[in-house]
Amino acid sequence: MTNKPVRAPRQALDDLVPYDAKDVKADVVLASNENPCNIPSEVRTRILERTELFKFNRYPDPTAGELRKLIAEANGLEPENVLVGNGGDELIFDLLLAWGGPGRKILDMPPTFSMYAIDAHVTGTELLSVPRAPDFAVDQQAVLDQVADADVDIVVLSNPNNPTGNLTDESFLIDLLDATDAIVLVDEAYFEFSRHTMRPHMSRHSNLVILRTFSKAFSLAGLRVGYLLGHEDVVRELMKVRQPYSVDSFSQMVAATVFRERAAFEQSISDIVRGRDQISDGLSRLEGVTVFPSEANFVMFRVEHASALWRDLLHGHSVLVRDFSRGPGLADCLRVTVGTPEENDRFLEAVDGILSHRMESAARTSIEGEG
Ligand SMILES: *Cc1c(COP(=O)(O)O)cnc(C)c1O
Repeated sequence: MTNKPVRAPRQALDDLVPYDAKDVKADVVLASNENPCNIPSEVRTRILERTELFKFNRYPDPTAGELRKLIAEANGLEPENVLVGNGGDELIFDLLLAWGGPGRKILDMPPTFSMYAIDAHVTGTELLSVPRAPDFAVDQQAVLDQVADADVDIVVLSNPNNPTGNLTDESFLIDLLDATDAIVLVDEAYFEFSRHTMRPHMSRHSNLVILRTFSKAFSLAGLRVGYLLGHEDVVRELMKVRQPYSVDSFSQMVAATVFRERAAFEQSISDIVRGRDQISDGLSRLEGVTVFPSEANFVMFRVEHASALWRDLLHGHSVLVRDFSRGPGLADCLRVTVGTPEENDRFLEAVDGILSHRMESAARTSIEGEG
């Protein structure tokens, strides 16, 4: 019996390549906007206490009740306004399942978080992109025009924007919320670093949905927990499309413990904000480097031959950052996540060393060329 080829999947998959989080090893990993520190030891102790009697044999609470209630209280909302997901990524996908799909449209503002476009593609949602200006500011008038003309179902904005780090004017976001009945997803994955939120505008705008995550400030990237805040009717619709048990009970317990004890993260968050300034200042002093202002836990910068710098950082110094230089609007751009003060120093010294060496070689070549 011959083994016949399997029937083709949906045609939409032809243009996609599987997500490959290249498992590159390095001593200093500054590539994925994670917190450089593990959860504080006093929080870990609480988690261990709760692990002792943990019921691994029972299905999770599909609504993540304990965590949902804590998040609601902290935000002055009701549990019905909160939805917990398997990372913020799952909630973005759920929004596309419920408000996107064939015949429907999502608008994003690239360069931005790539999952918006990927999820649009997978769900068959038409993607309208309004490119940012060269300084990564949102083209506000173009967004408002598109929303007025194109019958958009979802508008998504990362605020601060990943990977560029900048915030968008609150007054523009209010105009946008007023201008449309589309879902406006304001992705606040870096809220704990920027301390800016659209939360105060929820009561006046039922189309405002805010996304947060435990993966960045709260050191839980390995567990996959995120949440969104929205109108109870919006949350209700999302609960129809989501996988009921997507957030396992262990992750719920750990995230709830972390959220209760979130004051214990304040120190590391302010250290990271200081580290961001250390990196921005350090890079700005280097000749040929353009630094973009950031309100998050990473810094975007532009430098000639960025991909070569990326390689030299990794192979010569075992420092891993993220290369965006092939992305549209991001020519010669690299993004570095803020690490510990020691890691930040090591990164800055490595960049300085590589660029100085480059300049010396260039000078030598030009002198030799004259001779
Ligand atoms: C990291 C990130 C998320 C969500 O990450 P999860 O780990 O899935 O919670 C969402 N949006 C942006 C812009 C991010 O950078």
